[in-house]
Amino acid sequence: MFDIPVVALHDTVVFPGMVLPLRIGRLPSVKAVEAAYPNGGKIFLVAEQARTEHVDPETLYRVGSVGQIAQLVRLPDGTYQALIQGVNRARATEYKRDGEMLRADLEVIEDPVVEKTLEIEALMRTVVDQVEKYADLSEKIPDGAAEAARQLETAGRLADSVAYSPDMTFAQRQELIEIVDPVERLRWATAFLAKQIDILAVGQKIQGEVRKAAEQNQREFFLREQMKAIQKELGERGGQQQIGDELREKVEAAGMPDDVKERALREVERLEALPSASPEVAVIRNYVDWLVAMPWAKRSDDEIVLPDAERILNDDHFGLDKVKERILEFLAVRKLAGKNLRSPILLLVGPPGVGKTSLGRSLARAMGRQYVRISLGGVHDEAEIRGHRRTYVGALPGRIVQALKTAGTKNPVMVLDEIDKVGRDYRGDPTAALLEVLDPEQNATFSDHYLEVPFDLSEVVFVTTANQLDTIPGPLRDRMEVIEIPGYTEQEKVEIARRHLLPKQREAHGLTAAQLRVPDKTLLALIRDYTREAGVRNLEREIAALARKAARRLAVGKVKSVLVREKDLDALLGPARFEFGGANLEDEIGVATGVAWTPVGGDVLTIEVNVTPGKGDLILTGQLGDVMQESVKAALSYARSKAAQLGIDPNVFDRSTIHVHVPAGAVPKDGPSAGITMATALVSALTNRAVRRDVAMTGEITLRGRVLPIGGLKEKMLAAQRAGITTFILPQKNVKDLRDVSPQVLKRLTVVPVEHADQVLERALAPAPAVPLQQVA
Ligand code: ADP
Repeated sequence: MFDIPVVALHDTVVFPGMVLPLRIGRLPSVKAVEAAYPNGGKIFLVAEQARTEHVDPETLYRVGSVGQIAQLVRLPDGTYQALIQGVNRARATEYKRDGEMLRADLEVIEDPVVEKTLEIEALMRTVVDQVEKYADLSEKIPDGAAEAARQLETAGRLADSVAYSPDMTFAQRQELIEIVDPVERLRWATAFLAKQIDILAVGQKIQGEVRKAAEQNQREFFLREQMKAIQKELGERGGQQQIGDELREKVEAAGMPDDVKERALREVERLEALPSASPEVAVIRNYVDWLVAMPWAKRSDDEIVLPDAERILNDDHFGLDKVKERILEFLAVRKLAGKNLRSPILLLVGPPGVGKTSLGRSLARAMGRQYVRISLGGVHDEAEIRGHRRTYVGALPGRIVQALKTAGTKNPVMVLDEIDKVGRDYRGDPTAALLEVLDPEQNATFSDHYLEVPFDLSEVVFVTTANQLDTIPGPLRDRMEVIEIPGYTEQEKVEIARRHLLPKQREAHGLTAAQLRVPDKTLLALIRDYTREAGVRNLEREIAALARKAARRLAVGKVKSVLVREKDLDALLGPARFEFGGANLEDEIGVATGVAWTPVGGDVLTIEVNVTPGKGDLILTGQLGDVMQESVKAALSYARSKAAQLGIDPNVFDRSTIHVHVPAGAVPKDGPSAGITMATALVSALTNRAVRRDVAMTGEITLRGRVLPIGGLKEKMLAAQRAGITTFILPQKNVKDLRDVSPQVLKRLTVVPVEHADQVLERALAPAPAVPLQQVA
């Protein structure tokens, strides 16, 4: 037992045999070394639980080491740097203050000399092996550690040496130093080392796995890079690049406006960035192809030479003088006004087959421009005009854009056929889109939903066609200039057939003029007996049939040429399809002939009246519209008011049933213009005077019997003439319209203008009642 100065250690435990440098800074420690150094340099090195500036004995552990100061250097700030070696384990029995320093009464703990039993031997070997393994696993342990451990001979020293492990915590070290029994200490050491080895082994395993994962990632990356290189080698991704390059070239060559070009190039870039399997690729490609195909800058140079234009129009069509004149005026104005002119839009109105569409083609020829035709019949959907948005699968541009692509120029003549048949229903209204197309204010920036970029339609010459005006929406009609084409007379048809249809069909069937001859008389028979139409469409079809038959006969080789005479028609085309005329075959009571206007041309209309005993009913059949029904009633009132004068029994109206029928019964009919025809048929039936079969009439009737003007005179007179009528009764007020009627028609009809129904009866009814009136009633 002795007492020596105490140096408190913070976070450090000094074991016997350990040499280490110490920094002595706190005043109690400074005093302790100063006191110890001159007296042999022995101090008690003990750890503290908590650091205090003046070193509190309460916080000091009891077990520590006696240390020897090997060296002491005083530093300028009054502190010391000391080199110290641990000598013995020792336990403080008491701490005492000595001035500013602390002293301890010590009890030195010497390791007892124990016999090396087998167990101790085994333990010691285990520890050495463990240290070896530990050093292998941990980079922090110097390689020589195992060798050094092997040199230690006592169990206590070997156990203490484990405290060098950098993995041992301060608390563990204090625990170790407090174990007095060396064997016990050795056991503690193996346990500690075993745990460290385990930790290191698991750590290594984890590291290995991490490394493996990292390697795997790297491998995949490498393979992917390789795959890219292979694809490139095979030209896969290169193919896409090639598509992009090709498209880019086309875009550059297309002469697009700058903004459109920019747009197209952006799409090409987008395409190149896509994987080649993407469905988008085809969509984009299609779109860019459309952009490229549009005639952005291509136009036909139209140098209009008027005499040439006139020649072309005459070459293509017979007659139609007024129409041709109008077209030539149109061309002349264009020529004078040049490009600045917002050209009017022509609307050709007339029955089918009168050459409206083919006039459009002629106009294109006369102007030296491309010709395209869009049929609007049955178009219901705005998208048909303007296209579908690209988001729809299989989207396409609308008909206008498609037609421009077909034309290949931005200034074609575009015929919009059957504009009166544009549908308007729940599927949408194409009219709005058409308005935009036809409006010169808007069509310079026409936008198609698919194209998405505006296209300039202002240089397109639009020609529209229709069978009738009424069904064309008002705003559309207002934009156009109406030219009416009424239909042809027989003579005109013969001329058209001879000059145009026949040569056209000969050419189409590879025949020369000598090989197929059709005299005018045959043509007339064709017109009269095989067709009944305002235009020449069916006539052309029949002539085509003749050409076909002729071609076949010539091909068989039996004949060198075919002459079609009137009497051959039956054998070639079958029996006559119509009886010429249509007027009644004989004068009849209660049957009068009227004429009607229809969208497909004029037609004769028979009105039949039967008077039978009854209770004063009026029966109307034959699908008469409201206006026509009222017209019958007006005619009946007129007849009633004239009963006395006409010799009709006034009671007959209450004692009979009057039945008015208008064949063909299935066809709806309407309009007021059959008024005088109704009156004639009624009076005829009521007076038993027959109606002259060769008289046709048209005119609205008032209750007082005045005759009001009607529309569609040209078509009606053509129809009457076609039907074999010779006398045509019309309202006085319509006489001015006779100017428009072909002289050929006028030549064949006796025209009777009337102001009053009395005049009609006078002209249309046979002179005397065949049967006394009373017998009817
Ligand atoms: P629409 O468009 O009025 O229904 P098309 O233009 O289709 O009639 O004409 C039918 C056929 O009749 C065409 O082959 C056309 O060339 C011919 N045609 C019509 N009118 C004449 C005419 N006046 N002269 C020559 N051919 C004509």
